[in-house]
Amino acid sequence: MIDWRAIDTVLLDMDGTLLDLHFDSHFWLEHLPRRYVELHRLDEASQEAIRARILREQGTLNWYSLAYWSHELDVDILALKREVQHLIGLRSDALDFLRWLKRAHPRVVLATNADRESLALKLPLTGLEDYLDAIVSSADLGVPKEAQEFWFSLQEVEPFDPARTLFIDDNAAVLESAREYGIRHLLGIKQPDSRRPEKALEEFIALDRFAAILPQERPGDEEGA
Ligand SMILES: [Mg+2]
Repeated sequence: MIDWRAIDTVLLDMDGTLLDLHFDSHFWLEHLPRRYVELHRLDEASQEAIRARILREQGTLNWYSLAYWSHELDVDILALKREVQHLIGLRSDALDFLRWLKRAHPRVVLATNADRESLALKLPLTGLEDYLDAIVSSADLGVPKEAQEFWFSLQEVEPFDPARTLFIDDNAAVLESAREYGIRHLLGIKQPDSRRPEKALEEFIALDRFAAILPQERPGDEEGA
């Protein structure tokens, strides 16, 4: 599926690609609305309004900004995230994939819409940093991956050849944006959230397991390696 000799750079999304999206779905749609009404002493029915308010910002930098939501909702988002941080974890075979990439050494760059506060929470808990050559947050560039400007700005801080780059992301709008910029090798994720059904990505090939794109090991390879 992937000719690794044709790849110099691997750009990887974090939430829903390397990490199980279950933490984020649960936090934003269950835990935060519940804790919000508790902390502000509102009635249960207000949870629905908060959910709608959160979802309205989808795809914007605000959506990904913990500072924005702390201010907007007048709660300590990071403290609330810590209450459910045990749900932060890698997707099925993400660690095997990262280990393989480290040995194969293309340049491996995390290209995430998560802001620095989210990264500060998630990186130490997941050990991702050991496998990444660079980490680029759209918050640093001032524009989310959904927008074309993101890719031009990324190119400035982390030069890559779009024709020799593989980008993996669970978000169809983001993959579309990367394709428009000219990134040649694009893959989606079949089940970003381990507790929710698989989703169809009509325009892109979606991975079930990363193992599907690794070179097949033939019997005997391991001893010789
Ligand atoms: Mg994602």
